[in-house]
Amino acid sequence: MNRIMNMCRFCGTELKHTFIDLGISPLANSYLKGEDLDRMEPHYPLCVYVCDRCYLVQLPVFESPESIFSDYAYFSSYSDSWLKHAKNYTDLMVERFGFDSKSQVVEIASNDGYLLQYFREKGIPVLGVEPAKNVAKAANEAGIPTLVEFFGTQMAQKLAREEKYADLLLGNNVLAHVPGLNDFVKGMKIILKPHGVITMEFPHLMRLMEQNQFDTIYHEHFSYFSFLTVEKIFSDHGLTLFDVEELPTHGGSLRIYARHNDDNSKPVSKRVLELKDREHTAGFRKMEHYLSFGEKVKETKRNILDFLIKAKREGKSIAGYGAPAKGNTLLNYCGIRTDFIEYTVDRSPHKQEQYLPGTHIPIYHPDKVKETKPDYLVILPWNLREEIMGQMAQVREWKCKFVVLIPEVKVYE
Ligand SMILES: [Zn+2]
Repeated sequence: MNRIMNMCRFCGTELKHTFIDLGISPLANSYLKGEDLDRMEPHYPLCVYVCDRCYLVQLPVFESPESIFSDYAYFSSYSDSWLKHAKNYTDLMVERFGFDSKSQVVEIASNDGYLLQYFREKGIPVLGVEPAKNVAKAANEAGIPTLVEFFGTQMAQKLAREEKYADLLLGNNVLAHVPGLNDFVKGMKIILKPHGVITMEFPHLMRLMEQNQFDTIYHEHFSYFSFLTVEKIFSDHGLTLFDVEELPTHGGSLRIYARHNDDNSKPVSKRVLELKDREHTAGFRKMEHYLSFGEKVKETKRNILDFLIKAKREGKSIAGYGAPAKGNTLLNYCGIRTDFIEYTVDRSPHKQEQYLPGTHIPIYHPDKVKETKPDYLVILPWNLREEIMGQMAQVREWKCKFVVLIPEVKVYE
């Protein structure tokens, strides 16, 4: 049977190798209202490929970025830990590169201006670029100048005509969401000043594979990067990665630092060489390494189902905590519905009284846990497990046990 041929979004090679096939799934952020439950729900393949030429791990685009991101519900300012991360980043950049009132900071996917506000506090001119109208509006109202657009060469040329060149050009958690990767990186090169710095943060493929974080794969994430591959992409567009940091955010992220190839004022750091070495040793230049991931994920699914089946046979009740996008990938792939997890709870009022896409597990206010006293509470946002176990410590009163499913099933006694 013929399938549409997929081409690598970086090097154009035909994609022949499956990294992981997670079946078909609805968009992870399409929460449902009660009246939608009887309607058809669009599902798309969640099959990730790896290119045998450049090793870019990638998902084909099924839903346009316009329809996914134009009216995004996520406001970064609502997360305390993320604000702290942004503040620390700002201090680090100013200290290291000496940005001041004569510098220009440009952020791509600047959300509601939660990060740029810290540069502005230091008197440094800022400009945000953000495609989601509602969040961009909030930023402008808060005094952070923000253009409502998707970033690419077209947008970059427009900024160049207005002489809006960047001393610092940054983008956090945007590179993975870009379908036109080459156009995006080429655009960054256009607006970077001769001695300017680019920093980008994105989840690190090495950590995703090591820690079995297959649930962080969903349709909004088009690309999954190793350092080796991202270096190749930037280099192809005349940009050198001169430094890198490994961060704990999102289960393990990279922050890369780029400059123009001919800007010799910033030598390539030891950290770059050390990380490339480590990825090389781990197998990121060999196809077998990428192809080993699928079996690991299938075994994880079997272990998760073993735990849930055994618990149900013993007559235990199981509730969930959290309704993150990653939970939806995991639940849909494993076929976990209300037959295993009766309901989940979330602190966000935007999610309460709705249903998870695909599995139709209802979402309630966290108080529901106290009312029903389940035997197990499965924490879906595993990256926040410490925080959640603290907030929900009261469940231990009736001997309820916390459970985390990734990287493997772990019951906290
Ligand atoms: Zn490729």
